[in-house]
Amino acid sequence: MSITKGLPASFGAESYDAIVVGAGFAGAVCARMLAEACGTKVAVIERRNHIAGNAYDCYDEAGVLVHQYGPHIYHTTNDRVHQFLSRFTEWLPYEHKVLANIHGELMPVPFNHKSLKMAFGEERGEYLYQKLVATFGENKKVPIMELRKKNDPDLTEVADYVYENVFLYYTMKQWGKTPDQIDPSITGRVPVFVGDDDRYFPTAPHQGMPAEGYTKLFERLLDHDLIDVFLGTDVRDVLQIKGDLIYVCDHPYGGEVIYTGQLDELFDLDLGALPYRTLDMQFETLQQDQFQPVATVNYTTTEDFTRITEFKLMTGQELPGVTTIMREYSKAYEPESGQTPYYAILEDETQALYQRYRERVDGILNFHCVGRLAEYRYYDMDGVVASALDLSDEIISSNG
Ligand code: FAD
Ligand code: UDP
Repeated sequence: MSITKGLPASFGAESYDAIVVGAGFAGAVCARMLAEACGTKVAVIERRNHIAGNAYDCYDEAGVLVHQYGPHIYHTTNDRVHQFLSRFTEWLPYEHKVLANIHGELMPVPFNHKSLKMAFGEERGEYLYQKLVATFGENKKVPIMELRKKNDPDLTEVADYVYENVFLYYTMKQWGKTPDQIDPSITGRVPVFVGDDDRYFPTAPHQGMPAEGYTKLFERLLDHDLIDVFLGTDVRDVLQIKGDLIYVCDHPYGGEVIYTGQLDELFDLDLGALPYRTLDMQFETLQQDQFQPVATVNYTTTEDFTRITEFKLMTGQELPGVTTIMREYSKAYEPESGQTPYYAILEDETQALYQRYRERVDGILNFHCVGRLAEYRYYDMDGVVASALDLSDEIISSNG
């Protein structure tokens, strides 16, 4: 592998069998798969000055390993994804736990048996818990929007409490909308848990943190003789779609193009911008051993930020007397502003707009969209890796 800052004047697309746009999980996995399986020579073109996309991590001035684009916790139920990634990293055992700060009291989220007793008192909490068990069964996940539909005064009491104290204000901050106004799959990511397990991902058999961080994982993933990475290069400066043809450096390009950026940007937003939420992340280094009891505390009833993450507590780094925390403030993304489009806004109209862009490229057989941006989806890392592995399989079998 070579990593070059900027695209050299000598860059010749014809020397590459494939161009991958973006060095995040989607792009890096495809690059590796194609290079390995069919000897494809791949150019990875990345706008940022680093690899790893939004999973990028680095050491800050205090020596704390921080996640530059928000806390990333690896978890998956997908064995293939886990086996694939495990070739490039060892894993530190880490099970993510989150507490919600509800008017100053810290309760487990997903809301569970213990949270119920904290919210309603030992006796009433236990009664309500048994009611949940009788209704849904033990160790079951119940999305809040499902719980709200139950026509039973006890369950309504629980649903109202959780809706008001866990979901309403946090969701307003994160999305600028109430939970009723957003796709139920979003709040469904953090269902009420009818049980005692207080892990954020109670059913993921594989969870942890890459032992030397995500960026190191990516260095190994991209470390292949047939992969060249070009950083600090916006692909739109060299690649255009004209009708059913892809042009690179003003010449038609017949190799495979794997695109992991925003689809609207590729067409200068000419049908309108796909909306996103972005985040302001405010890092602060404190001269103390520890700031909070768990790695992430969600502020669900107060404050303007959504959550505080303390990185040391998830990476297992031992650094006495110093710690770095990060507050996340969500706001609407402004297109072409240099902001990062973190979250696609999943609504019927936005999906329809995405499909209109997508139709323009679906007929181009050597152009492929994959990843959280290019598919305009709310993917976790493992979902992106799974999608990239599937796409690579397709390309490999069509080339073979
Ligand atoms: P990205 O990582 O965004 O990579 C796309 C790359 O393409 C970027 O590096 C971008 O610079 C580049 N690019 C875009 N346009 C161009 C262009 N025109 N030219 C050149 N390069 C371009 N997932 C989990 O599993 N666990 C978590 O705990 C978790 N936490 C998250 C927290 C936050 C705040 C966010 C926003 C996401 C989180 N995720 C988490 C999701 C995870 O970040 C994504 O699933 C994953 O990183 C997406 O990978 P990707 O390759 O599709 O996109
Ligand atoms: N959510 C909430 N309160 C919480 C946790 C989550 O309202 O304490 C809602 C909120 O709408 C959020 C969504 O559930 O956007 C998904 O939460 P998750 O933690 O999965 O978000 P991510 O880590 O992807 O930002």
